Amino acid sequence: MPKVIIVSNRLPVKVSKDESGYQLSPSEGGLATGLGSIYKKDDNLWIGWPGLEVDNEDEQKQVSQQLQEISLCPVFLTQDEINRFYEGFSNEVLWPVFHYYASTYAHYHRANWEAYKRVNQKFCDMVLANAEPGDTIWVHDYQLLLLPDLIRKAMPDVAVGFFLHIPFPSHEMFRLIPWRKELLEGIIGADLIGFHTFDDVRHFLSAVTRILPVHASANILTCGERSIVIESFPMGIDDKKYDQLARSASVREESEHICETFKEQKLILSIDRLDYSKGILQRLQAFELLLETHPELHRKISLYMIVVPSRDQVPQYKELRDHIDRRVGNINARYRNIDWSPIQYFYQSFPIETLSALYSTADVCLVTPMRDGMNLVSKEYVASRVQNDGILILSEMAGASKELIDAIIVNPNNTHEVRDAIVTAINMPVEEQRRRMIQMRYNVSKFNIGHWVKIFMDRLNEAKQYQRSMQ
Ligand code: UDP
Repeated sequence: MPKVIIVSNRLPVKVSKDESGYQLSPSEGGLATGLGSIYKKDDNLWIGWPGLEVDNEDEQKQVSQQLQEISLCPVFLTQDEINRFYEGFSNEVLWPVFHYYASTYAHYHRANWEAYKRVNQKFCDMVLANAEPGDTIWVHDYQLLLLPDLIRKAMPDVAVGFFLHIPFPSHEMFRLIPWRKELLEGIIGADLIGFHTFDDVRHFLSAVTRILPVHASANILTCGERSIVIESFPMGIDDKKYDQLARSASVREESEHICETFKEQKLILSIDRLDYSKGILQRLQAFELLLETHPELHRKISLYMIVVPSRDQVPQYKELRDHIDRRVGNINARYRNIDWSPIQYFYQSFPIETLSALYSTADVCLVTPMRDGMNLVSKEYVASRVQNDGILILSEMAGASKELIDAIIVNPNNTHEVRDAIVTAINMPVEEQRRRMIQMRYNVSKFNIGHWVKIFMDRLNEAKQYQRSMQ
């Protein structure tokens, strides 16, 4: 029976080592849950890096066996590969360029590009060791842009799908990359190429038709004998999980405690991973402007700001963290008094129950990335609002803004607009909150992660069948 093989940089599992050997703890992220309906079935599997270095061959065998029992198959990477393929190329070329930060953060080193090619080939070897003609391979994200074409060349009789989880930039940005042609050739090895939004599709079509000798008609790309389908598939979340958590006794108890602590204030929630694309400093600037220009709101609002540690050994990220620390310190020092601090700042990650309690309690969720492929925090907030109240302020640069049109949509660079949006939010009548939230909850529930997986897989089967019928 034909199999489905998922391939992504990271496996949906945390592997750690203690005295008794390697321990596996499966990831509970939305993507892992959604794709769980696929890779856990029949002989299907998920190929990826297990997230830690295992250089001893016996230990690699041991980890592989443990992973195999839960349908996972590891690609082991050396420290040098992690430094060059993952940090050096994926995170210092593709991530900044695709998020429009080329001039500040991109570093083009040929040795890192060579490592990127080698590691994509390593993933391909593992796919080929497991795939058979007729199988379906679904490749994920920017670390594996070369993989679709490597697979197709070696095994033309498999269906290959590719999904990009980050934005695809305009051609003017993308063309800056010295290896732009090779990257596009890699992606178009897929039969179906998916993005979060229609803008990403447009950008991709514009880049690929300018750089490669291909022709686009509507969303179909023709490349010699092949036709390739390009479409948007906005990714959803496991909405029921957030709905049920918000209704659970333990989360409600935690929410009551938060309500009690902030009973005098409107609570404004902000949650991000530490990253320059998230607009954290600009958000703080807007909040400071609010405090400066609306003294009547002092003591009546609190910004609860969670920044999840990420890559803070990398100098640019450490610098960003220091800037945030300083900015929060300055704002609190300037405006706090004996019984009120304007910002509660946490540089740590929280268990999902605490996130759920915060989502359920916060009057406003403030999500203002400079650029974001989708942004799941905004959808998780909506899914947690089981009373149908609360206000989402959402950056127009987040993919989610194309679906959550009942949020207050802002340009994150416009500090005055963000400030005004907060004022509007905290004064919004509950009937209007409900009108907006009910609509957003409907969208988040209808287009959830299960729906996303299903439509991508259906479309991929259709695209491959069409190709086979043309041969
Ligand atoms: N998150 C988490 N722990 C925390 C805070 C957030 O696991 O302490 C999760 C959050 O629930 C969300 C994800 O991190 O699912 C962030 O996803 P998003 O798309 O918003 O941004 P990304 O970090 O993927 O760029």
